[in-house]
Amino acid sequence: MTNNIVIGAGISGLSFGYFSKKPFIVFEKENIVGGLCKSVKDNGFTFDYSGHFIHIKEKKIKSLIEKLIGKKLLKVNRNSVILFDNKIIPFPFQANLYYLNERQKQKCIDGIKKRKNIKIYNNMPFIDWAKAMFGDGITNYFMQPYNKKLWNCSLKKLTAEWTAPFVPKPSQEEIIKSAYNKNEQNYGYNSVFYYPQKNGCQEMINGFYKKIKSNVIKSTKVYSIDIQNKRILAGNKYYFYDNIISTQPLKELLSSIKNLPKEISSLIKKLECTSTRCINLGIKYKKNLPERIKDVHWIYVPEKKYPFYRVGIYSNVSKSLAPKNCYSLYIELSNKQNCENIIPLLKKTGIMNDTDEVISINVIDMKYAYVLFNKERTALLNKIFKFLKDNNIYCIGRYGSWEYSFIEKNIIDAKNLAEILNKTK
Ligand SMILES: Cc1cc2nc3c(=O)[nH]c(=O)nc-3n(C[C@H](O)[C@H](O)[C@H](O)COP(=O)(O)OP(=O)(O)OC[C@H]3O[C@@H](n4cnc5c(N)ncnc54)[C@H](O)[C@@H]3O)c2cc1C
Repeated sequence: MTNNIVIGAGISGLSFGYFSKKPFIVFEKENIVGGLCKSVKDNGFTFDYSGHFIHIKEKKIKSLIEKLIGKKLLKVNRNSVILFDNKIIPFPFQANLYYLNERQKQKCIDGIKKRKNIKIYNNMPFIDWAKAMFGDGITNYFMQPYNKKLWNCSLKKLTAEWTAPFVPKPSQEEIIKSAYNKNEQNYGYNSVFYYPQKNGCQEMINGFYKKIKSNVIKSTKVYSIDIQNKRILAGNKYYFYDNIISTQPLKELLSSIKNLPKEISSLIKKLECTSTRCINLGIKYKKNLPERIKDVHWIYVPEKKYPFYRVGIYSNVSKSLAPKNCYSLYIELSNKQNCENIIPLLKKTGIMNDTDEVISINVIDMKYAYVLFNKERTALLNKIFKFLKDNNIYCIGRYGSWEYSFIEKNIIDAKNLAEILNKTK
């Protein structure tokens, strides 16, 4: 009988287990399952690891989640905005020039008209891609400062490979038109998203977990992998395997393999990523929700003077996430050092009222947040995954596959791998 060992009980590991028809064990180092899709409860608030909203393209995935949690998901029409020049303007910047002042509009229009006619390709430096796609004005006002904050690295080093589903690309005509007429079009992969009615993202995790609970061993870290003898050390015991399904960050997986060949171990340091600090705030208001954030789900904050790059309003997605007369925020930073004065800054920008009182604070550091797309990444990954597959180790998930993915893709990839391994003898 095939014996599959899964490392990690985040959405990827739990989904793999759910679709698996072969014997398997999932080891999870934490005492709670869910990985980055966990939720935290405090003082009547439910917080996620910053916004974890479920964007779904495949109806089957939505039905599966609804079946597992036993309830319909909330359907939410995204309202995301940008804080720019002390104004709130709709997302995306490049399709909403209408809200800029005349000088800013002109710079954006001149920029897009005067773009150099250069070849656009996926793994070109992001900054060159942004200028070639949108021109200097839009790049200088939004693309450059926002992405500099998010990725916390040189935008020459970062390639444009990740942009495909995530950065809306209106045509030159649409961009220029948006300077004179309000844009009515919904751009982006997440213009509609879904979310559990209560208990945060953890509700989805619990749905999967319930089905495979008896196969999950919590508080047990996989420390090392011996590929010669096909056994792992998990907790203080050895287990033999036929296949390993890893959702743990690829860097850590490779470091845990004994006698890793030099040509693979030398690649580990080239796998780079960003970290994110998420500050969750539960807030009681005196009179009303701040006017600026009414009905808003999240705010992109490109300007350098603010240390955070995004602020979200959980309680506008689901009222169940905050008690009466309260609201809840997540504030995301990719540079941990810079998180002083957050509350005065939120008040200054109107995201909080002056008289509002913070009654819950919860800080979450995500060591692995966005994997860095550099020029070498694809070639490195091909080499690494070939070596791992030759040794019956399969990687899935956002950090296992070392990619920019999201919940729906994680579930689909886990299902596809389970179906392949279900067929093996
Ligand atoms: C800031 C941020 C916001 C995001 N927002 C969204 C969103 O709105 N919508 C969306 O769809 N996606 C979002 N994502 C992406 C989403 O979080 C991931 O796609 C998803 O959580 C990946 O799940 P996973 O199971 O692959 O990995 P993880 O959630 O990282 O799970 C891996 C698990 O493995 C365990 N583990 C690691 N090493 C070991 C070991 N050695 N032994 C045992 N266990 C181990 C970990 O404890 C963890 O539980 C966001 C990500 C970030 C960083």
